Amino acid sequence: MSKVLIIGCGGVAQVVVHKCCQHSDIFSEICLASRTKSKCDALKAKLAGKTKTKITTRQVDADNVQELIQLIQEEKPKLVMNIALPYQDLTIMEACLKCKVDYLDTANFEPEDTNDPIWRARYEKRCKEKGFTALFDYSYQWEYHEKFKNAGITAILGSGFDPGVTQVFCAYAQKHFFDQIDTIDILDCNGGDHGYPFATNFNPEINLREVSSAGSYFENGKWIEIPAMSIKREYNFAEVGQKDMYLLHHEEIESLAKNIKGVQRIRFFMTFGQSYLTHMQCLENVGMLSTTPVEFEGKEIVPIQFLKKLLPDPASLGPRTKGKTNIGCIFTGKKDGKEKSIYIYNVCDHQECYKEVGSQAVAYTTGVPAMIGAMLFLKGLWTLKGVHTLEEFDPDPFMEALNLCGLPWKIEENPTRVE
Ligand code: NDP
Repeated sequence: MSKVLIIGCGGVAQVVVHKCCQHSDIFSEICLASRTKSKCDALKAKLAGKTKTKITTRQVDADNVQELIQLIQEEKPKLVMNIALPYQDLTIMEACLKCKVDYLDTANFEPEDTNDPIWRARYEKRCKEKGFTALFDYSYQWEYHEKFKNAGITAILGSGFDPGVTQVFCAYAQKHFFDQIDTIDILDCNGGDHGYPFATNFNPEINLREVSSAGSYFENGKWIEIPAMSIKREYNFAEVGQKDMYLLHHEEIESLAKNIKGVQRIRFFMTFGQSYLTHMQCLENVGMLSTTPVEFEGKEIVPIQFLKKLLPDPASLGPRTKGKTNIGCIFTGKKDGKEKSIYIYNVCDHQECYKEVGSQAVAYTTGVPAMIGAMLFLKGLWTLKGVHTLEEFDPDPFMEALNLCGLPWKIEENPTRVE
């Protein structure tokens, strides 16, 4: 019986709250706090009478450490779940450290202001040293490892699907199927159709920043960077069909390269339709994906934030999205001296998710693992002190919970490999 503080009330948080409320024996109380309190109140009203979990709501600016400390001290949660944006990771971690309260999030830190000279100097150094130019990396959060450990608290980083479940699949493959994993291909296929010419399935700013950046993969101890969308493959996904997919940089490659010993290559592919790519290219060409403020009629606006205002809210796509997602990892390697290859994956149906919690599958596949990570922490099963990504914990209770909580997985032996 524990109280959690959930920060953020967007598309993913709606699923997290719904799923926690299905497990009132563990999540006896939720304080839901976000920038716009009315969204928290609306969600609370939606769940009234449907759960034994007690929900209270608060307003908070999660960019402000002092405000967060005050909120945590007043609410006294057992765990803080950061379901806001990657921009808030460090402020929320800092507040958790000050209050000695445990922490969980779904995406690694990324700065909102990429023109901040202090951040930029460190970023440019990292680009040169590591060889990838993504705006995010784990170093900022890993710097908290010793501090969290000394404070006797846990940070669970990236408890969504990818990052998140994909790393649990890696730990599970390592524990049960391989003596040595040689290659990992993470495949993220969304075969869903929402009927709009262009919309993103989660926060547009974060999503478009990610997919318009250079791609990269990890091979033989080094990062190899390629122009955005320049490596394309076709893959025939179970229950979805043939799709085009493109190699992207993705945050879990960085932690897996560190934690899966001896791995030779890690790549990440995501499917995109031609319409999405054409729209994105056009928006990029005209400067609408820029994060640099421009002056417009006497007011400063950030183009990508203005674009977010125009695009459909991902949280509203639930009723319209039809089709399935198929996300998983293809592993090759050796077991008992023999070559082996498996695909561990989950298929999730957009309409089934909508029926259950009122959201599409991208929010669902992120929100359910966030709830499971929190549940395992609260049950005392995932309590390693310090800052950790999901492949560092025992995968077995998480894999079991996926099957019970709406994201069942399958294993295919000798799957078709990606060239
Ligand atoms: P949304 O934009 O829908 O929701 C973000 C929420 O955070 C909103 O309620 C927003 O408030 C709130 N918020 C933003 N800034 C602040 C602030 N300063 N203080 C308090 N609250 C704030 O995003 P999503 O729900 O789509 O995404 C949530 C997270 O999930 C993101 O970090 C995203 O990267 C991650 N994600 C992870 C995936 C994975 O597989 N690991 C996949 C998809 C997403 P307001 O309502 O006022 O805007």
